[in-house]
Amino acid sequence: MATTPILEVRGLKVDIPLPDTVLHPVRHVDLTVMPGETVAVVGESGCGKSLTALAIMGLLPRNARPVSERIALKGESLTGASRRRWRQLRGDRIAMIFQDPMTALDPCYRIGDQMREILQQHRRVSKAEARERSLELLGKVGIPAPAERLSQFPHQLSGGLRQRVMIAMALLCEPELIIADEPTTALDVTIQAQILRLLRNIQRETGIGLVLITHDLGVVAGMADRIVVMYGGEVMEVGSCDQVLGKPLHPYTEGLMRSIPVPGETRRGETLGFIPGVVPRQTGERTRCGFIERCPYAHDDCAKGPIALREAGDGHQMRCVLPTDGSGRDPSAWLRGAEAS
Ligand code: SF4
Repeated sequence: MATTPILEVRGLKVDIPLPDTVLHPVRHVDLTVMPGETVAVVGESGCGKSLTALAIMGLLPRNARPVSERIALKGESLTGASRRRWRQLRGDRIAMIFQDPMTALDPCYRIGDQMREILQQHRRVSKAEARERSLELLGKVGIPAPAERLSQFPHQLSGGLRQRVMIAMALLCEPELIIADEPTTALDVTIQAQILRLLRNIQRETGIGLVLITHDLGVVAGMADRIVVMYGGEVMEVGSCDQVLGKPLHPYTEGLMRSIPVPGETRRGETLGFIPGVVPRQTGERTRCGFIERCPYAHDDCAKGPIALREAGDGHQMRCVLPTDGSGRDPSAWLRGAEAS
């Protein structure tokens, strides 16, 4: 019997009208998360990852116009759901871990009060029961002296502890899906590794679906089951972790991979690769490949119309006209592109 995905997103589009134009930061994104699966959404800042997450959470800014063929949580369609329904779901069945816990946590309330509020919003629990559950969760995420933390304010905790509190809060109502938006960007490398390990362990223990949003392909190695690479509001490549990291097919993914050091291969003092140029402002309909301005392999066929996502085998897909077996590329083109930029 086919398993129902925890999250199913089809044809998600977000438009933002401005006085002089309309931005299209998310264009026809499809995303599926199965129970117990970790899906990493990867791309540079400005590629549409966070807006995709906010659209899934029903948290887009008021001026944004989301349109989707389907957004469903375990089979329940949320396309056009009321604000009341979204409020019932958020914090209960779907939870989000934000990038900067200092701004996501309320600085005026003690940690214990913020945790109790979430629980009492969604469950009929007494103050004592809420405290017990909060203590249990703070202990689970490895916070020392949890009773003491409950009476502290966010500014009294370190960045790593605040992020652990955010994770504990996300777990309070045993959600089916957690969206973690750059959960480790504000942390130093050792705390980053601890938080990622914690998220992975919790995800394996509880079987929840996890959408991990990050700009860092290195972060997702060993963590993600599947990787979705976004650029210019579109999905450029999607596949298993092994497929995307082992044999990146889209030139954008290739560029991202070139920009991270490889243990044992990158020599001391060696210049890392980079993708020339910046992410362009997303206006107007697509009439050609969205990566054409920065792609070292661009040629005439790339400008003949919008490029469709196509199958490269075993569920590995890419939005590019190049051969799906990875042939037909001259890696030295990256050097020429970098020199020209
Ligand atoms: Fe580059 Fe062309 Fe592929 Fe776009 S379609 S990524 S421009 S080779």
